[in-house]
Amino acid sequence: MVAIRPTLAAPKTALERLPEEWADVLVSWGEPKFRGIQVFRWIHQRGVFDPAQMTDLPKSLRERLAKEDLALPMEVALFHRSSDGTRKMLLRLTDGKEVESVLIPQGHVGDLAAVPDDEDADVEEPRARTPISQCISTQVGCAMGCVFCASGVAGLKRHMNAGEIVSQVLLGRARSDEHERVRNVVFMGMGEPLHNYDAVARALVLLTHPEGLALSTRRVTLSTSGLVPQIDRLGQDFGGQVQLAVSLHAVDNEKRSALMPINRKHPIEELMEALRRYPLPKRRRITIEYTLIAGKNDELRDADTLSKLLRGIPVKVNLIPMNPVDGSPLAAPDYSGVDAFQERLRSHGVAAFVRRTRGDDIAAACGQLALHGEKRRLRVDYSAGGGGS
Ligand code: SF4
Repeated sequence: MVAIRPTLAAPKTALERLPEEWADVLVSWGEPKFRGIQVFRWIHQRGVFDPAQMTDLPKSLRERLAKEDLALPMEVALFHRSSDGTRKMLLRLTDGKEVESVLIPQGHVGDLAAVPDDEDADVEEPRARTPISQCISTQVGCAMGCVFCASGVAGLKRHMNAGEIVSQVLLGRARSDEHERVRNVVFMGMGEPLHNYDAVARALVLLTHPEGLALSTRRVTLSTSGLVPQIDRLGQDFGGQVQLAVSLHAVDNEKRSALMPINRKHPIEELMEALRRYPLPKRRRITIEYTLIAGKNDELRDADTLSKLLRGIPVKVNLIPMNPVDGSPLAAPDYSGVDAFQERLRSHGVAAFVRRTRGDDIAAACGQLALHGEKRRLRVDYSAGGGGS
């Protein structure tokens, strides 16, 4: 595993302290420095939050730690299991706000994890445990206003801190079945991760810390709507080790701006240049997310333009048939249209996959569960080049 350590903003909560930050705190209490790594391991490796259970710590330290706020900053408000094995958690934060996280058995949605099977050969995998992918949130709501996305409907309520972001994975691990383990984490739930950069950067360091959850950076995927300066920053801070997924969804600026208002600030050409600059390690690819919307972006000439745009960038394209949002006039193309689009991309030498929607019976598209009761009608105005929720 490659050690990654960008300069981080100070921790906001005890839960998001790194071992050396714990050591600083504990030394100031008169404890030896090595206790820092012990406390970190209890929380992030073993998922123990009650100091009374941290049995290799002296009693006096356990009592002192009990005064720190080490409790998980969320509770599971709803836990739905789909017939296909997908599980969706509605998580209530300490201020009552709600976000969501989805556990997805791998094999069903290998595409979502952004690590193609042919790149997996050198990864040691214990045979006995079923790998699962977890989709996590980074903000309550989202400010980006993409018109096809339920999370964008409510607008941004607040950023999540790093402790809240990582706690989703700690909870996901605790709530997965005994034979499973969380192997991939995808920042693709509520929120634009790069709009909450400092907290997300700290969460990435925590999730991949070898003394904690120890996820491989190749198994952590950050999905963005295209915040160009932050893509550059992520590339520099993590040396390109974090898997990057980009929501593209349209191949010309007028259509993309209508779907994704961020495109007015960072148009397609600027975004493609940022992807060319991203310091990808060898044999890695950036994932391009392309939601197919009937009559809007699903023509074969769109596939031709898409392949031209991506020329020279190591990518794979995930095609996602539109998952309808209540009140939206947008719909998915039929199966033959999806197949034809995929085949056209492949004929241009572009690796293209269709991501099947999972967990339809529990509304597993990110954003849908937390937005229950907050549905509003979506307005899409292509002719004006605008839209939003
Ligand atoms: S697609 Fe992503 S960036 Fe766009 S509104 Fe939804 S959560 Fe935000």
